[in-house]
Amino acid sequence: MVSVLLIPIYSVYTPAYSTDTQTNHSMFCTISWPRIELDPYYKCLPAKLSTPSRRILSGVLDNQFASVMRRAGVLSTSIDAAIDVLPGMRALAGPLRGQCYRALVGAAADESSHTQRILVLEARAVGAAPIRAIWYRLPSKCGDGFYSANGRSLQQALNPCPVARARLSSRFGERMHPISGHYTFHSGVDWAAPQGTPVRASGPGNIEFLGWLHGYGKTVILRHNQQYETVYAHLSRTPSKLRTGKRIARGDIIGYVGNTGWATGPHLHYEVRHYGYHINPLSASVGKPSSLHGTALREFKRYLSNLSNGNRNSLLPAYVAS
Ligand SMILES: [Zn+2]
Repeated sequence: MVSVLLIPIYSVYTPAYSTDTQTNHSMFCTISWPRIELDPYYKCLPAKLSTPSRRILSGVLDNQFASVMRRAGVLSTSIDAAIDVLPGMRALAGPLRGQCYRALVGAAADESSHTQRILVLEARAVGAAPIRAIWYRLPSKCGDGFYSANGRSLQQALNPCPVARARLSSRFGERMHPISGHYTFHSGVDWAAPQGTPVRASGPGNIEFLGWLHGYGKTVILRHNQQYETVYAHLSRTPSKLRTGKRIARGDIIGYVGNTGWATGPHLHYEVRHYGYHINPLSASVGKPSSLHGTALREFKRYLSNLSNGNRNSLLPAYVAS
C-alpha cells in the first residue's frame, strides 16, 4: 500500500518544460481554471506519483501541443493518436482550442519504463466539467486507442467519399472487370469525377505509401491507426509537398483524380482496409470503432480503477471508474 501526501495542486503542478518558452502556457493554464479550488479533485493531487516514470504535463491546447509533447519525449504515434481524438473530445465538450489540458504521460503497465506515451489526456474549459480521453489497449492486443471514461471510442469515422461531387461508378464486391472481362472481386469503390478534381484524406493519418503501384497507377495509402488504412488509386498527380510518413489531417488534399494504371477513365478507386482486409467503404460503421460492451467494458473499468484508485498516480478521480 502506497501512502501519498495530498497537497494543494499549485505546489505540484509544475510542467516539465517550465524553464523554456512554454512558461506562459502554464501560467495561462492556472489562470484559466478559476474553479480549481472548488473542485475536491483538482484541489489535491498526490505529492509524489507512486510510479516515478509517470508525469503530468499541462498547458493550453493550441498548435504547440505536439511540440511540447515531443520535447517531453512522448512517442510520435502517441501524440498523433491524441491529436486524432481531439475532435471526438470536442464533440463531448464543445470547442477545445485554447482550453487547458493535462496529460498523464508514462509507460503502460506492460511496457518498458522508458516508453513515454499519453495515458490520459484531459481538457477543461472554464466552468465546465473536465473531459478525458483514456488510452487503452484491448486485452486481445488487436488494437488500442483513446476512450471516454464510459468506454466510448473517441476516434473519428472515415469519410466514405473523398472526392466532392463525385458519382459512384462501381461498388464494392464481385463484378465483371471493365478491362479483362472476367468476374473479379472489386476491392473498393470507384468515384467518377473530372480529371484533376482534388482527392481529400478521408480521416487523419500518416502517409504509408506514395508512388506507382501496378494496376493502381499513382497511389497514396494512408494509415489512420492500427486498424484502418485507406487507399487512393489512379491519381493523376499528388501535391509536391507530400512525403511518406507525413502527417495528414482529415480533408487535406492528397492527390488529384486521374486514370493512371488500369483505368478506363478518370475516377478514384478508393479502398478501406481493416487489419489488412478489404471492407466495404460505404458501410456505416467504417472507421468508427464501436464502444466497449460487456466483458470488454468491465475490463476497461477495471483498468480505469487501477489507474485512478489503486496507484493514486493518475489524473482520474475515483468517480470516473464507478
Ligand atoms: Zn476500382
